[in-house]
Amino acid sequence: MICPICKNTFLLSQKSAPVTGSAEDLQTARNLEDTLRAHASECIGMAANMIGVRKRIIIVGLGPAAIVMLNPVIESGAGEYEASEGCLSLTGSRTVRRFRQITVSWQDTAMRQQKRQFSGLPAQIIQHECDHLEGILV
Ligand SMILES: [Zn+2]
Repeated sequence: MICPICKNTFLLSQKSAPVTGSAEDLQTARNLEDTLRAHASECIGMAANMIGVRKRIIIVGLGPAAIVMLNPVIESGAGEYEASEGCLSLTGSRTVRRFRQITVSWQDTAMRQQKRQFSGLPAQIIQHECDHLEGILV
């Protein structure tokens, strides 16, 4: 299901809750995937609160594939730099500090524990979406 994008900064500023991988969580993940695809020309990642669900679910678009991460945690980062980012929920772009390389752990949609290193654009997307989970907007 393609969902409307939440632009309410009060709602977007609230922290998201951990997920258990319930049927409802998986539906949210599918909705995120559909909504991301519908905005593919302007958006490469989304957090669940952007479609109005305050849960710790993000999606990272990597070319034709997209990774859904439940309860993602950035364990470490290296190579800080300044990036300019926009957000589908906001207008304009802002300057933020990001790491070039990060190690992320998360659960996949089968609740299997995953851990991987990302760099470059995927790393930047993950940092942006994890900020959304904390209620931080660029
Ligand atoms: Zn955003």
